[in-house]
Amino acid sequence: MSYVGRFAPSPTGPLHFGSLVAALASYLDAKANDGRWLLRMEDLDPPREPKGAAETILQQLEALSLHWDDRVVYQSSRLENYQLALNELKEQSLCFPCDCTRPQIKAMGSVYNGHCRARNDFDSEGTAIRVRTDLREVAFSDLIFGEIKQNVERDAGDFVIKRKDGLFAYQLAVVVDDAFQGITRVVRGFDLLDSTPRQIYLQQLLALPTPSYAHIPILVDREGQKLSKQQFAEPIDTSRGPQLIYSTLSLLNQSPSPDLENASIPEQLAWAIEHWDIQAVPKLANMTVKAVS
Ligand code: GLU
Ligand code: ZN
Repeated sequence: MSYVGRFAPSPTGPLHFGSLVAALASYLDAKANDGRWLLRMEDLDPPREPKGAAETILQQLEALSLHWDDRVVYQSSRLENYQLALNELKEQSLCFPCDCTRPQIKAMGSVYNGHCRARNDFDSEGTAIRVRTDLREVAFSDLIFGEIKQNVERDAGDFVIKRKDGLFAYQLAVVVDDAFQGITRVVRGFDLLDSTPRQIYLQQLLALPTPSYAHIPILVDREGQKLSKQQFAEPIDTSRGPQLIYSTLSLLNQSPSPDLENASIPEQLAWAIEHWDIQAVPKLANMTVKAVS
């Protein structure tokens, strides 16, 4: 089976150093496996997406010579497909409307306890839709972290697939689109490791294939906070492209030789594709970076 990988940024701001790590790791893993590397813009949440952010991300990737294959898929253009998946779950009585509040869920011990499972008033205003989980254990072998197991009902609970505000939830959209794009391997940040069992669970309910997964450490600041667009981590400065790629290769523990630092980006990428070793990536949940510049 031929390899298809992807990078799936949410356009909540320009790329920052943390997102570059995920972009580069997924790119190198795809290219080192003679695969295609697809790009998906996860623009499902308009209030959180500054105008122009998606275009900026594309320009940043191009400036770094991280060229994607095929056309960019925009999740905002795929809403009817998420609805079809939801309908499929509905027909199997595997989802239900719910308007439990955050405090109510906290009182359940923070894992949703199935309170609204018997409801089927799907047309009610202002309700979220949750998928019904069960006690099966979902297991997968992460290429970096090894065996991961989760009992979805006990550890995650019935989770939201369509939000109260009418937006489709990430967990549903990502599963529908990884299948739509024929993704065979997902390389992404460790912060999504604990979403993976829920995604595999949904794949099973929807009879979709399960890709292989590799989760890479995420970058945190000295206080241990994830570098994220919401916290205004500095956008990457693509005029310093070669240094950025070099630093990212070092963070990914690919041991680039020092003379590569002054090489052009295409030269660095060619070296990195040839020498890519996913097993060298630190087996850490997160890595601290001092300054993001
Ligand atoms: N859009 C998600 C993010 O930017 C990533 C989703 C994924 O890789 O599955 O955090
Ligand atoms: Zn409820």
